[in-house]
Amino acid sequence: LAPTPYYYTQSRDARLLLRKRDKFSNKGSFGHALLMVGSYGKMGAAVLATKACLRSGVGLLTVHVPKCGYDILQIAVPEAMCRPDGNPNVLTGTPDRGASELGSPTPADYAVVGIGSGIGQAPETLDMLKGLLKTLKKPMVIDADALNLLSENRELLKQIPPNSILTPHPKEFERLTQKWDNDYQKLDILREFAQKYRVVVVLKGANSAIATPDGDIHFNSTGNPGLSTGGTGDVLTGVLTALLAQNYDSVEAAVLGVFAHGLAGDRVAAKRGQIGMVATDIIEALRWE
Ligand code: AMP
Ligand code: MG
Repeated sequence: LAPTPYYYTQSRDARLLLRKRDKFSNKGSFGHALLMVGSYGKMGAAVLATKACLRSGVGLLTVHVPKCGYDILQIAVPEAMCRPDGNPNVLTGTPDRGASELGSPTPADYAVVGIGSGIGQAPETLDMLKGLLKTLKKPMVIDADALNLLSENRELLKQIPPNSILTPHPKEFERLTQKWDNDYQKLDILREFAQKYRVVVVLKGANSAIATPDGDIHFNSTGNPGLSTGGTGDVLTGVLTALLAQNYDSVEAAVLGVFAHGLAGDRVAAKRGQIGMVATDIIEALRWE
């Protein structure tokens, strides 16, 4: 019986993963990411993922949002480019006609696609997700309602690009898999899922557990209950999308990104306590050194 490799990520591990910037770099050196996020009433999630992605070192960022989110995103985050969808309220993947100059690149042209924050589960959005999974070959970041859409359409799971990063909280993971009786069974289910679909799964919570396609599990050491508040997961989606855009491999990106996200939460807690922490505080406290 082979021992199962478990890891516990501490600061020295994260420090070894983190790369320095080359003096002769330019924004093209750090990837152009596409976030597909937001819907009517949930544009906050889109803004949080966008800001977090920019605060995590992405070179360039385009954000595809439903038309109702266009002004919101452009005003909230001037550093991001915006690709408005033709649909007023939900994502369909078809860019608005008025934005056709912007519409020429397809999702496959970007270094990475991060999808899910605040997108809802409209049938049009499911169709978009199906189309993406048919065309994308590079690892993606998949979160929130994109995961719920996969749970409702399980035949799509095997189309997820290998080494994609999935970031379910326990409820989302239960929908993707099954109920568990105890933590041992939960970890078995987690490992089996990551191996079966050749993906990296970040099961979020205290000591988030990151399962790799090879069957390893990395527990995170940072973070605190102050993070138990709306929007902190959307921040993580932005962080991980930025790291994949910068060419970190998927396991490195997940281990480093989850560590840095939790550490940002610990910095906020040290300064102003856990209670009253908001997701925006986490973005501002991210520090890549
Ligand atoms: P979500 O549920 O999608 O908003 O994601 C919540 C984020 O906050 C994840 O990154 C979790 O790991 C983190 N989080 C939530 N509760 C805790 C906790 N008690 N301790 C540490 N991290 C937490
Ligand atoms: Mg979430």
